[in-house]
Amino acid sequence: MNMIDPFGRTISYLRVSVTDRCDFRCTYCMAEDMAFLPKKDLLSLEELDRLCTVFIEKGVRKLRLTGGEPLVRKNIMHLVRQLSRHLDSGALEELTLTTNGSQLSRFAAELADCGVKRINVSLDTLDADKFHKITRWGHLDKVMQGIDAAQAAGLKVKLNAVALRDFNDVELPEMMRWAHGRGMDLTVIETMPMGEIEGDRTDQYLPLSLLRASLERQFTLTDIPFKTGGPARYVHVAETGGRLGFITPMTHNFCESCNRVRLTCTGTLYMCLGQEDAADLRAPLRASEGNELVAAAIDEAIGRKPKGHDFIIDRRTSRPSVSRHMSVTGG
Ligand code: SAM
Repeated sequence: MNMIDPFGRTISYLRVSVTDRCDFRCTYCMAEDMAFLPKKDLLSLEELDRLCTVFIEKGVRKLRLTGGEPLVRKNIMHLVRQLSRHLDSGALEELTLTTNGSQLSRFAAELADCGVKRINVSLDTLDADKFHKITRWGHLDKVMQGIDAAQAAGLKVKLNAVALRDFNDVELPEMMRWAHGRGMDLTVIETMPMGEIEGDRTDQYLPLSLLRASLERQFTLTDIPFKTGGPARYVHVAETGGRLGFITPMTHNFCESCNRVRLTCTGTLYMCLGQEDAADLRAPLRASEGNELVAAAIDEAIGRKPKGHDFIIDRRTSRPSVSRHMSVTGG
């Protein structure tokens, strides 16, 4: 039953964008006046559950809900609760989510009750004014309350920060000390050229090789084999005792170990974050009450998973490498 792609990689990790909508408008992620999908195009929560279940039957062991902002999808906890049965049965090793934290104070306890153990919270700055500027609509205090609630509920929190030149580069050492002081790992991410935004990505892009070199002037970083199933490569930071992850889609292509595929809220399966090719699973899902058609469509799609992506950010190419925004497929 396992899903193995043409390059011998076993697909065991599904990321599901449960909505393309978000209550923030991060400048590097979205345009301010984004056109979102009409609600009628979305899969119902029951259909999302059915699709996820087919993937789990086909060998997915780790499932991450993302978006858009997953916690703004109406009745999202119904889906989380439904999916948690696969944790109880042992079919699924981990159910987790990536969130901007704005709704966490409402949902943290229930997430923990559903068997969620770890979550990723995206946070690019600890400065309230800068936070409002980069998210356009967000408020730092709400996210801080969300992080507090998550930790109080016993959830392990990892922070994700997109490294942005002249925005948070100087602040990252302080963010790292703060995160490690609260027992949270911090992962930094290179900005990827996905979707049209108002700004120029060339101005924002900070290669993490440069960030690492600059951090190494202040901190002792030691590579460690720690893995969470995702693309981050981790170092141990001697001065803080914590872990720092690097996600480097631009400077170091991490595709050779890719174990992931991504499902959107309309039932489109993307076999690679950095390519346009996709497979429609909604039609085969709706065409039959049984799962044979959709299972066959998944097999066909995995057979087309590409070797990798080639994101390019430079002044000669103003168009994004991939036309869809990150909010379609989630992080
Ligand atoms: N709303 C949730 C959140 O904020 O985490 C989940 C979706 S969001 C699209 C997932 C992650 O993608 C966030 O950490 C965000 O900062 C990151 N992201 C968005 N656009 C990006 C881009 N162009 N390059 C790199 N990371 C990006």
